[in-house]
Amino acid sequence: MLIIVANLLVFGGAAILVHSTFTIRRLVEQLPAGQMRQRWRVLNLLTVLFIAGYLGYALAFWNWTPGLADLLVPLIFFFGATFVWLTTRLSLQTTLDIRRVALLEQENITDPLIGIYNRRYLERRLEQEIQIARRHSLPLAVLMLDIDHFKRVNDTFGHPVGDQVLSYLGKLVLGAVRESDIVCRYGGEELLVIAIQTSPAAAAALAERLRQHIEAHALVLSSAEGARQELHITISIGAASLEPGISEYPELVERADQALYQAKQSGRNRVVSFSATSTRAAPQAR
Ligand code: GH3
Ligand code: MG
Ligand code: MG
Repeated sequence: MLIIVANLLVFGGAAILVHSTFTIRRLVEQLPAGQMRQRWRVLNLLTVLFIAGYLGYALAFWNWTPGLADLLVPLIFFFGATFVWLTTRLSLQTTLDIRRVALLEQENITDPLIGIYNRRYLERRLEQEIQIARRHSLPLAVLMLDIDHFKRVNDTFGHPVGDQVLSYLGKLVLGAVRESDIVCRYGGEELLVIAIQTSPAAAAALAERLRQHIEAHALVLSSAEGARQELHITISIGAASLEPGISEYPELVERADQALYQAKQSGRNRVVSFSATSTRAAPQAR
């Protein structure tokens, strides 16, 4: 009778360990490639070795007549396996929860149409970057981009194509800036680029590069009949740099906005850098 209980405990423990290896496999799939993934793989291998140990024990004591005290080892085997199972389940659940929270956080700061950062993130990040730039005496610039005559695009091709243009613009801008630059949607069809550690001259050069990049590319529209049409857009850009007179981030954005206004006033499809010598930004032609 006791041998049946002992075998049930050992084989039951082995079965629980087998189940744990599947949980570990699911967990490994959730983890990004790296050290943590490797460690869980090692743990999985150890679990398999434990299973072999359990089965070896059962075979070695197959024809054995245990006393009550001899059930202690099978009991430890069983509860050890239960402990491993619980730990792996909890780890998997925790990993899934962390992933869900990370996804929610990402959605919370992303613009769903363009797939770049939204205004909420922009405000938080710009405030932080201004503090960092001040603390380490680093240059910082922002570029405000606005599509020229975008209403015409909506009026001519319809709002869905307008949305397509916005998404296309986002991709072009993301592809043209440095990885450290932060691209956000400021408003309707206005994007704001936070150019980290970028001097006023470098910011103007970046803005001009962006302007040319957008001008040089076209969005290809395909009709249901298969006809293709190229849609060209241009953008105007206002650039502003962090200066001693600026205490809060809205002032920096306001300067970029003023420069953008000047770019629009002076003919569009151009870059204007804010100049403090003028109440309104003085156009500094491209
Ligand atoms: P300007 O050259 O002066 O910038 O002319 P504009 O026609 O682009 O004028 P403005 O910058 O004021 O354009 C705002 C237009 O952008 C109004 C609105 O129809 C369009 N818009 C804003 N957000 C969206 C959006 O999410 N999708 C689409 N399709 N259009 C949008
Ligand atoms: Mg516009
Ligand atoms: Mg606008």
